[in-house]
Amino acid sequence: MGAQKVIFTRVVIFKNLNIPIEELEGGMFVAPYDMPPWRPPSEAYSVLIRVTRGCPWNRCAFCAMYKDIKFQVKSLEEIERDLEAALQVYGPEASTVFIGDSDSLVTKVDFIVEVLALIKRYFPTLSRITSYTRGRTLANRSLEDLERLRGAGLDRLHVGLETGDSWLLKYIRKGLTPEEMMRGGEKAIKAGFQLSLYVLLGIGGEDRWEEHALGTARVLNRVSPHFIRLRTFIPIPGTLMYERIQRGEFVLAPPLTVLKETRLMLENLDCTSMFLSDHISNYAYIEGRLPHDKEEMLRDLDRIIAQLEASPHLLKVLRDRHKSAHL
Ligand code: SF4
Repeated sequence: MGAQKVIFTRVVIFKNLNIPIEELEGGMFVAPYDMPPWRPPSEAYSVLIRVTRGCPWNRCAFCAMYKDIKFQVKSLEEIERDLEAALQVYGPEASTVFIGDSDSLVTKVDFIVEVLALIKRYFPTLSRITSYTRGRTLANRSLEDLERLRGAGLDRLHVGLETGDSWLLKYIRKGLTPEEMMRGGEKAIKAGFQLSLYVLLGIGGEDRWEEHALGTARVLNRVSPHFIRLRTFIPIPGTLMYERIQRGEFVLAPPLTVLKETRLMLENLDCTSMFLSDHISNYAYIEGRLPHDKEEMLRDLDRIIAQLEASPHLLKVLRDRHKSAHL
């Protein structure tokens, strides 16, 4: 398959860099090369290099990110063409690279090592190369494989934990057990990676928020990732979770429940991590370093919860914010 064109609506970075981009009707733009359609917010200014297309799992009940994309591994030739284009876009002094799509580490280690060498050839002054991967992939990889990837220049991994509750992981079809996440996470850290684990607030709904919070804290405590990044569940049309809500099988957690769930998780955290709320979906902006800032973050959450309990109007505004996400 030839290079896919990816349509972006957010192109501020290209505009700021004076990159020629083709504007389409309706304020859409065509990406200048085959870029990953998704990246973490913390990679907003990274060179985006697509090594695989889609998700090799693609079954999570809440996710529509790569639903229509068949998983493919790109050839080294395709990747090199993208690197040539990326060099024109970002310049040779770019400092960080992000590898997409959802789990390029599932491919052969020799292949990723070659890709990393290519990336460093085009961008010789990099301080960081990062990639998405899956907890199960890390669990299945040997420590030697991970150490090879680390030695070849891959620095940071972004992994969706979503929840540490075993029942809930099955319910959302994550294809991951808490034990696999613990094993994979510990191994990645032992191999020398910086690890970001993503938690999906609200995914336990109104009925299972406590199990979600406590199970997640248990996994996070065991792994002690460098970063804990919070996102809040927003049902996406076309996903199984959306259908479950329509059928009345799953009750969405209202904002107050999500905040109490966050508090319960945080209260039970005993790890050394940056706790980050770096996403627009979240109801509260709570960030700090664990364990140092834990008590202050808990006090902030208590204040926010108390203010919301005292303001039905504010609660309604927060509740309605997510409702309109797909209008
Ligand atoms: S959440 Fe991640 S692993 Fe699950 S389907 Fe989406 S991209 Fe794939």
